[in-house]
Amino acid sequence: MPTGFTPPVKDIRFALDAIAGLPSLTDSFPELTSDVATAVLNEAAKFAAEVLAPLNAPGDHEGNKKTTGGVVTASGFKDAYRRFSQAGWNGLTAPSAYGGQELPHTLGTAVAEMWQSANLSFALCPMLTQGVIEALNTHGSQEQKALYLPKLISGEWSGTMNLTEPQAGSDVGALKTRAEPVGDGTFRITGTKIFITWGEHDCSENIVHLVLARLPNAPEGTRGISMFLVPKILVNGDGTLGARNDVVCAGLEHKMGIHASPTCVMSYGEKGGATGYLVGSADKGMANMFTMMNGARLAVGIQGVGIAEAAYQKALAYAHERKQGRALGSRDRKESVAIIEHPDVRRMLMTMKALTEAGRALCYANAVAIDLALHSKDANEAAKARGQAELLIPLSKAWPTDMAVEVASLGIQVHGGMGFIEETGAAQFYRDARILPIYEGTNGIQGVDLVGRKLAQDGGAAVRAFIEEIAANAAALSKIDPLKDMGGALGQAVATLGKASQWIGGQLVAGRVAEALAGATPYLRMFATVAAAHYLAIGAKAANHSLTQLGADKAYLTARISVARFFAHNILPQVEGLLPAIMEGGAEVLANFPDEMK
Ligand SMILES: Cc1cc2nc3c(=O)[nH]c(=O)nc-3n(C[C@H](O)[C@H](O)[C@H](O)COP(=O)(O)OP(=O)(O)OC[C@H]3O[C@@H](n4cnc5c(N)ncnc54)[C@H](O)[C@@H]3O)c2cc1C
Repeated sequence: MPTGFTPPVKDIRFALDAIAGLPSLTDSFPELTSDVATAVLNEAAKFAAEVLAPLNAPGDHEGNKKTTGGVVTASGFKDAYRRFSQAGWNGLTAPSAYGGQELPHTLGTAVAEMWQSANLSFALCPMLTQGVIEALNTHGSQEQKALYLPKLISGEWSGTMNLTEPQAGSDVGALKTRAEPVGDGTFRITGTKIFITWGEHDCSENIVHLVLARLPNAPEGTRGISMFLVPKILVNGDGTLGARNDVVCAGLEHKMGIHASPTCVMSYGEKGGATGYLVGSADKGMANMFTMMNGARLAVGIQGVGIAEAAYQKALAYAHERKQGRALGSRDRKESVAIIEHPDVRRMLMTMKALTEAGRALCYANAVAIDLALHSKDANEAAKARGQAELLIPLSKAWPTDMAVEVASLGIQVHGGMGFIEETGAAQFYRDARILPIYEGTNGIQGVDLVGRKLAQDGGAAVRAFIEEIAANAAALSKIDPLKDMGGALGQAVATLGKASQWIGGQLVAGRVAEALAGATPYLRMFATVAAAHYLAIGAKAANHSLTQLGADKAYLTARISVARFFAHNILPQVEGLLPAIMEGGAEVLANFPDEMK
């Protein structure tokens, strides 16, 4: 059955090459040629469209079932997982020493976007496995890497992240799961974790859980957390599978969306203690998690871009099909036009498209900064990229996921009443998108991270450098005749961002932390909106330049300029309205929260 989803390979390639600067990674990744990137993107597009997308709506209807034997996934998921693994997709960015292809994270991000558009529920499984691979590769012992990485990379085993407990959500430091040393180098894990994505399922032969727990006498809070590897089935020294470990799925959550992704309550140690192995140093579990948090947060941002793209495509197709009303100025009462002819429908579609392309540009730019930070041979370049990657992470996680909810909602609106009817499929995108601003650090926590950590890092150096980069881009645009208007709008917006940054920085220096945090969410929105406009403008500049070249794809390039211009004039001006919310909103939020509202 046709799903109507066509992976946007051309847009993805444009964002990679003309905006994010994928070609700048070839020094660090010699095997990354343009042909390799093309082949990978085309193959991924085929798999996403032909294998994953057709399972999206049926998986949403069917969901998962908990049986005495475990969790049975929706029809077709097991086979799709087998094909996904056999095609090597788990290993795209994984270390070659353990069977991966070690291609840049940026290319992996672009490919992941297609999985997320096609089937968010399915794509969560490899996304979490990727996180486990990164964590073990960075913090695991040689023995752990040799035993677990090849099977995770081949997809024979999948991975999960176990942080959340009923009393420990955003406050991970409140977790209570215990790890008692057995005396033979292993630990006995006991406790309950909730909301564990793909915690139990029938697609892989084993599941490798990374579990945060406390050792006896560990310090309170996040300083006393350690990370443990707890396999569902114990692994013998020669890599063969042994006895079943003492960990079970105690229940499945009934959710608003992502119905085909099993969200599990995981019970460790009902029979005395699950066997766990310490990963990295004792009490350093939180720091270990942080090293892979960047990848995970960016991966969730890309989920937002993926859903937005899918919602846009569906709405666009409907707007061409659905006839309603007459053309403006027409006197013919019999002839109705497709709704795409109506200015307000066009406005909705253009908003969806601009937000999607902007989120993609922001996330890919973040991915390039991560790759350069980790792999550039030039120490100065790596250090600068590290600062920028860290700064962009809360923006890339929060903004595209908030936008995904907005875009999916607009998608329903474009469908009118049919959008509210489940069989259309527009509603699934909205329901699925709604988790994205919540997990992997709520978007409120991203605001706290931006203000509390990122603004202050290196005395504000990364923020200053980024603001200067955007101002220089605005000045350059202002000198290019057809892009002058965009340069003016970006210049004004970045000046406002500078003002807001200084104000928040001033509050922090003066010890008025609550005032600064009261404006953290509008500040993040402002920062990300300006950054997104900056990246779209880089694309518009490249498109404008290419237009003059022989054989240029004029219609496509002109459209990229149109999208950037639309963003600059319709969305970017929102930053001016956010300034009072940042600088003056806090007083109401903090001191004058009316008693009768408490
Ligand atoms: C479908 C689904 C899948 C999930 N998958 C996983 C998984 O695989 N592994 C895992 O470990 N967890 C997982 N989670 C858990 C998820 O990460 C948490 O739900 C999330 O971190 C928020 O925690 P909480 O639900 O306890 O909300 P709370 O922490 O109670 O937050 C409630 C509200 O208070 C705000 N808030 C809390 N503290 C602060 C603060 N200090 N400053 C400002 N605002 C604050 C939050 O932003 C939020 O708006 C999943 C959750 C769901 C629903």
